[in-house]
Amino acid sequence: MMNRVPGVIESMKQSKVIVISPIGNIPSWITEIVAKKVKKFFGFNTLIKPVLTDISFAFHRGRKQYHSTQILEHLAREAPPGTVKILGITDEDLFIPILTHVYGEAQLDGTACIISISRLVRGTGVDIIDTGSSRIVKEAVHELGHCFNLRHCKDAMCLMHYCRKLEDVDKKISQFCRYCDIILTDSIKSMESNRIK
Ligand SMILES: [Zn+2]
Ligand SMILES: [Zn+2]
Repeated sequence: MMNRVPGVIESMKQSKVIVISPIGNIPSWITEIVAKKVKKFFGFNTLIKPVLTDISFAFHRGRKQYHSTQILEHLAREAPPGTVKILGITDEDLFIPILTHVYGEAQLDGTACIISISRLVRGTGVDIIDTGSSRIVKEAVHELGHCFNLRHCKDAMCLMHYCRKLEDVDKKISQFCRYCDIILTDSIKSMESNRIK
């Protein structure tokens, strides 16, 4: 009986997937490294599957950017059966009305999140594979963390720290702090107990 809870969590992790959903032409090395790292951080299997091809509904003519909140609603609706969370990856620039741009957005404790790679790979030049992919993975895990009910963290080294600039993203290490790690584990446990009620 002692390991009853971990056992139940393992069963959910085997039956549910985190969907990595490229929107438009996202290079496969990006979706593949994100899928691999997401599996490592959250313990769920991942599935690379495009569910949205056209996001013109979210385009803002004045700003020439895409309103991420609107895309999240569509991603959540189009998520295939068995989805625990879905992460969209776009190369279009994203915004929410109160900010000039965002690297990503998530439904807090919800199903969908999205990241834009457009600013994350900027200025990386030949270093795109290392610096670019490290930034993309950090932002992907950050947004998925919100879907698992994690809030922003004051620890500048933690993946859940809010970053305004690329220098802030580069400063973070690819880890949750101990506090966020505990909240994440609790969040996954409570998802499972809600599911079997
Ligand atoms: Zn955030
Ligand atoms: Zn933290």
